[in-house]
Amino acid sequence: MSLIPRAPNVKPGEKFDVIVVGLGPAAYGAALYSARYMLKTLVIGETPGGQLTEAGEVDDYLGLAGINAGDMIKTFSAHVAKYNVPILMDRVESLSKSGEEFVVRTKRRGDYSAKAVVLAIGVKRRKLGVPGEDQFAGRGVSYCSVCDAPLFKGKRVVVVGEVIQR
Ligand SMILES: Cc1cc2nc3c(=O)[nH]c(=O)nc-3n(C[C@H](O)[C@H](O)[C@H](O)COP(=O)(O)OP(=O)(O)OC[C@H]3O[C@@H](n4cnc5c(N)ncnc54)[C@H](O)[C@@H]3O)c2cc1C
Repeated sequence: MSLIPRAPNVKPGEKFDVIVVGLGPAAYGAALYSARYMLKTLVIGETPGGQLTEAGEVDDYLGLAGINAGDMIKTFSAHVAKYNVPILMDRVESLSKSGEEFVVRTKRRGDYSAKAVVLAIGVKRRKLGVPGEDQFAGRGVSYCSVCDAPLFKGKRVVVVGEVIQR
């Protein structure tokens, strides 16, 4: 199954009920539900799979124990494809309001408008900036103790963090 985004008939300037920005798990979920509600939906995102493209095995998703992250992306993508939601692979550069509608400006394909926009653009991790951090991300370096603690059971680990005073 191809992960290549598809939007064969979408024209710049076209209006939608919902535009989902992002191509990670949250975007696939939002697109699925929007389409199931019979809303005219467009997905615009840069990286199919989002952060999952950096993950190896995912072991904490109910019902999909030990799934390979690439297979998980394919599973999500195939589910959304069943609903024929058009997907544009592009960067969203700005979001503005024109009357009752939101205007989503893309880097390469012009503007699209919608009554509602779902921003499923993920998060950026705050990194330590130490040597080896990027090299070993997902292979010993983890940013999610809730997700990954069981993978390091019985091993010596270092947890780095800070208390944020509010
Ligand atoms: C190495 C690694 C291992 C992980 N392992 C696990 C695990 O085992 N279990 C678990 O539950 N979670 C794991 N995670 C976390 C999980 O991948 C994230 O929680 C999840 O991907 C978040 O999904 P999201 O859709 O919210 O955001 P993201 O996956 O970050 O997706 C954001 C999307 O938005 C797009 N985007 C952002 N800005 C724009 C823009 N301006 N225009 C267009 N598109 C844009 C990006 O290209 C991307 O497609 C792991 C993450 C990493 C990095």
